[in-house]
Amino acid sequence: MEDNQNSLTFQEPIEWPYPIRYGEETRVNVDVLVLGGGLSGCFAAINAARKGLKVAVVDKSPIVHSGAAGSGVDHWMDCPSNPASKVDPEEFTLEPVRKYKGGYANVIANYITARDSWDALCELEQMGMKIRDTDDVFKGAPFRDEATKLLFAYDYETRTCIRIWGTGMKPSLHKECKRLGVQLYERIMVTSLLTEGGRPGGRVVGATGVHTRTGEFFVFRAKASVLCMATPERLWIFSSEWTGLVGRDGPPANAGNGHAMAWRAGAEFARMESSSHEEWGGSTGIGAVLFGTGSNFATWYPCTIVDAEGKEVPWVDREGNPIHTLEERTKPGPGQKFLTLVLGGGEGKAESMPHLIPDLPERIRKGEFKLPLYADLPGMPEYERRVIFGLMVGQEGHTWPVYRNLTEAGFDPDKDQLQVYEIGAAPPGWRRLRYGGLVVDWDLRSNLEGLYAGGQSIFDGIGVAHASSTGRWAGRSAAAYAQEAPEPIIDEKQVNREKTRIYAPIQRPDGINWKELQAGIAKVMQDYCGDTKTEELMALGLKTLEEIREGESRTLFARTPHELMRALEVLDILTCCEMIIHASRARKASNSWLHFERLDFPQDDPPEWRKWVTLRLEGEEVRVGELALDYHGDIKKNYETHKKE
Ligand SMILES: Cc1cc2nc3c(=O)[nH]c(=O)nc-3n(C[C@H](O)[C@H](O)[C@H](O)COP(=O)(O)OP(=O)(O)OC[C@H]3O[C@@H](n4cnc5c(N)ncnc54)[C@H](O)[C@@H]3O)c2cc1C
Repeated sequence: MEDNQNSLTFQEPIEWPYPIRYGEETRVNVDVLVLGGGLSGCFAAINAARKGLKVAVVDKSPIVHSGAAGSGVDHWMDCPSNPASKVDPEEFTLEPVRKYKGGYANVIANYITARDSWDALCELEQMGMKIRDTDDVFKGAPFRDEATKLLFAYDYETRTCIRIWGTGMKPSLHKECKRLGVQLYERIMVTSLLTEGGRPGGRVVGATGVHTRTGEFFVFRAKASVLCMATPERLWIFSSEWTGLVGRDGPPANAGNGHAMAWRAGAEFARMESSSHEEWGGSTGIGAVLFGTGSNFATWYPCTIVDAEGKEVPWVDREGNPIHTLEERTKPGPGQKFLTLVLGGGEGKAESMPHLIPDLPERIRKGEFKLPLYADLPGMPEYERRVIFGLMVGQEGHTWPVYRNLTEAGFDPDKDQLQVYEIGAAPPGWRRLRYGGLVVDWDLRSNLEGLYAGGQSIFDGIGVAHASSTGRWAGRSAAAYAQEAPEPIIDEKQVNREKTRIYAPIQRPDGINWKELQAGIAKVMQDYCGDTKTEELMALGLKTLEEIREGESRTLFARTPHELMRALEVLDILTCCEMIIHASRARKASNSWLHFERLDFPQDDPPEWRKWVTLRLEGEEVRVGELALDYHGDIKKNYETHKKE
């Protein structure tokens, strides 16, 4: 690739409302660089800045509402450390791993979350986010702790998941970043990590970026960096006609850039083979676009569901035993210590919460229940009705538009039921990566010196409490390293190579556009790495992706800085898809805990494959490795040793 940026020539942009600055360059110098200003990124930045260090956050979007939590959230899960909890954080971490995740969990991140998430939530409260029922609206409700005024979800007895006013989360973090003097670089897409000597596998000394409105180039130099760009969306399906560009766990802007750049820099990944078809409803068992309108899942838990004739659909407990009262939906069953919504592991394989009868589809087919189904808000006690269709539906990013539209249209939860729009909603290609990400140690450091990670950038990461707690921890670790680290040196050749790479689409007068390329890649993933996986199919898939990389992607063109961002996203999506196929080929056994099924290796979770398969790039070679499931070691001891105040 050409090393000299002087050879770059740019096409005249089409009509565009912002000044064009392709090739112009801004240099930024900080101690700690946070890549991605979502939830984990803001927490990392705030915690590093509190150490008196010079900190910058770079985000593709405006930080006040960027990232998965940017549109609002309603549950603060995984918080056994709150004062009203009756569960020990160690038990809370380990029991679901044994029972519902088959041992496949990132116990390091989960334990840090279990121990620290209450402190992180209190930090948010200090920043101005509402976490308690201070107006006493729910006084006397069984989910309220009168002493703390906290409102709990799911398990009203053991109390580890807190209902929050989460639309205020990102604005509070944004304000705090500004108050602490964190430098915010917004609408800048980070495109690559810079390494010492320009060498993959070397110490990470900064990153490059491109402005999504002006096309200006940025070089960030930092002693330590924290990767917080979350997991890729849009891998198996692409349709701007479906919900935007499609994503459930994150916004479409989370296009796997962080994964792709860390991969190119030599970082190690795990769980990249884990993906599943988006059918898991957890509520009706029929297949769902989660949270739809009426539902009984997550935001809507524990709403009663009735059929078209008003007949109530029965519930069972998490062991499958029939339960008959509302109270039983919100407390542990016989012999159980606590209820928790298990995400990440056996989700969909083993139900971790009470749920509707699993054979509901069959019973509908037999005529026992008549479609459509409805969420029966009027049939719930008033405090439940108000907390679901008031607080929760009004705060959760997936549902508050439903809340606002319906309320404006005169919907009355005291009288009206709301239809469950779930059946047949998931299109065939609606598959997603399930929490593949960077391997990290107890400092949340990657295998690369100077590179830390938080939130969904870490393998097996999901949820706001997780993102906040790990971001906070990674920010502190990065700060501690930066305080001692030598001055970073940027390799200018590496910078120039990156400039040439990222501006290539803008230099082409025509070719393939990003949408066509994205649709093609998604189709390859559906056909060769979808529900049916065999060695032959995946080898063909990889070959097809390589052909796309050598062929169509070299003709990718963009007419504006915005299209340039989209084009670069699709190139990273291509990289993420390659990583997924490499990982899927490397695991030569099926594994239902990881939602991983191979037709040619049908045995489920055989003993010799009870491990994480890891991947990293060394030169041009993909290196496959492995990691013991218990690589976390003694969790209490390691937590204490690595905790930084
Ligand atoms: C609508 C919705 C509701 C949810 N509700 C809940 C809930 O109630 N409870 C719960 O526990 N979890 C919930 N989740 C999940 C939770 O929000 C996420 O797990 C969590 O926010 C992830 O945090 P993160 O920091 O890893 O990623 P994010 O918060 O998504 O941050 C990633 C950031 O990286 C930026 N970025 C990406 N690529 C680049 C690039 N190339 N350059 C610069 N910046 C980049 C993005 O703009 C974004 O700001 C919800 C998710 C969604 C989508």
